[in-house]
Amino acid sequence: MQRIKIKDLLKSTNYGSKVCIKGWVRSKRDSKTVAFVAINDGSIIHNIQAVIDTPNFEEDYLKDVQTGACVKIEGTLVQSQGKGQSVEIQASSVEVYGKADPETFPLQKKGHSLEFLREIAHLRPRTNTFGAILRMRHAMAFAVHQFFNSKGFVYVHTPIITGADCEGAGEMFRVTTMDLKKIPIENGQVNFENDFFGKETSLTVSGQLNGELAAMALGEIYTFGPTFRAENSNTSRHLAEFWMIEPEVAFNELDDNMNLAEDFLKYLVKYALENCSDDLEFLTNLYDKELINKLKFVVENDFIRLTYTEGVEILKHCGHKFEYKVDWGTDLQSEHERYLVEKHFKKPVILTNYPKEIKAFYMKQDADGKTVRAMDVLFPGIGEIIGGSQREENYEKLIARVRELGMSEKELWWYLDTRKFGTAPHAGFGLGFERLMLFVTGMGNIRDVIPFPRTPKNAEF
Ligand code: ATP
Ligand code: MN
Repeated sequence: MQRIKIKDLLKSTNYGSKVCIKGWVRSKRDSKTVAFVAINDGSIIHNIQAVIDTPNFEEDYLKDVQTGACVKIEGTLVQSQGKGQSVEIQASSVEVYGKADPETFPLQKKGHSLEFLREIAHLRPRTNTFGAILRMRHAMAFAVHQFFNSKGFVYVHTPIITGADCEGAGEMFRVTTMDLKKIPIENGQVNFENDFFGKETSLTVSGQLNGELAAMALGEIYTFGPTFRAENSNTSRHLAEFWMIEPEVAFNELDDNMNLAEDFLKYLVKYALENCSDDLEFLTNLYDKELINKLKFVVENDFIRLTYTEGVEILKHCGHKFEYKVDWGTDLQSEHERYLVEKHFKKPVILTNYPKEIKAFYMKQDADGKTVRAMDVLFPGIGEIIGGSQREENYEKLIARVRELGMSEKELWWYLDTRKFGTAPHAGFGLGFERLMLFVTGMGNIRDVIPFPRTPKNAEF
């Protein structure tokens, strides 16, 4: 018999029909003559209940139908007598594909802590919470592509191994095939000549520089790939391996960039509300009663836009005691960003025109010589969700900044070439995919919105 997914079966009104489902047992309740087994196959958060009249089965036949086991059940679809489900299966045959010993299966009971589940990341997709998160992660990834595709953007695959160390020196993971016991050192320097690429290489911290090259030919592009940062900060918002979406658009200036970022975020959140209602309801009930309202609020309200300088003025005079002091010229901490969003404006905020010293070399310089056309989008509960800017398209100004920062012109020759040959105003930004997932799922820790988190001292699964 053809297997039917539980998601489809729960919608069916074809009572009396013969059906076959396959999935994992979530719970089993026994009485004298009947067993109720709840089965989930990952297609939807809800389980289907199979009713097994035990006298119809040989003794011992059902002993392996235990929480965690994988089963195939055939039977008749009937209208449910019990509360909480519309249909159930009156089982006629039960086959166990894989047993799960009740003595050792770690997900025997409900209600494990998220911390405990992180230690069994190989099994946590079997819980309601991680099923919901992983389905939503898929929905959001799909929506990212749908948004850009509908606007005519080209998806560009930028390299994961990079020879450019300009962006995040110190934060980068090295890539090498050298024998670590025999590193060739000359005059205190490693000689990479005989390494795989013949030069020092690392895992990328961002696809942006390559993305810019593509935008200078295709006009509107985006990247969506893994990025790696060896920042040793054990926070609830940083991973060593995370996914980033980076659109880059020729002829866009800072205002266009802000409009694109706001439209994009609203589109994604709206997509979640419209397409993930079961999972969202579950997460709202279990973790954050206000979750769905918070998502609606973001879709329905304009983001506040103000300059870094204005933001710093508000923070300096707000009377709130911060752990880190705010002064013009210092980078804002998450506590400052969240104060502006959650306490002062009570709306998402786009901060612009940051001091050039705390931003990257490629950002377009403002006429005052002090600030650059940066923009960070700040979200409630998270702080920075997007970082972006209009790029410096002027060759002389860009090279002056590169020299000022003591960066290597020689290594960056290919990037600087775009400003030599047919340069154009352009802008882009990076959305951290897991920061988005934190927002739409209401989870508090970034380790819980990626299947297998990579953080300092943690790469087990
Ligand atoms: P933060 O100040 O929060 O550390 P950043 O300024 O270093 O972030 P950018 O270099 O601007 O971040 O990267 C663009 C986006 O990538 C950020 O807005 C954020 O959403 C995401 N991001 C950056 N670092 C991480 C990380 N370690 N883990 C997960 N997401 C990250
Ligand atoms: Mn940033």
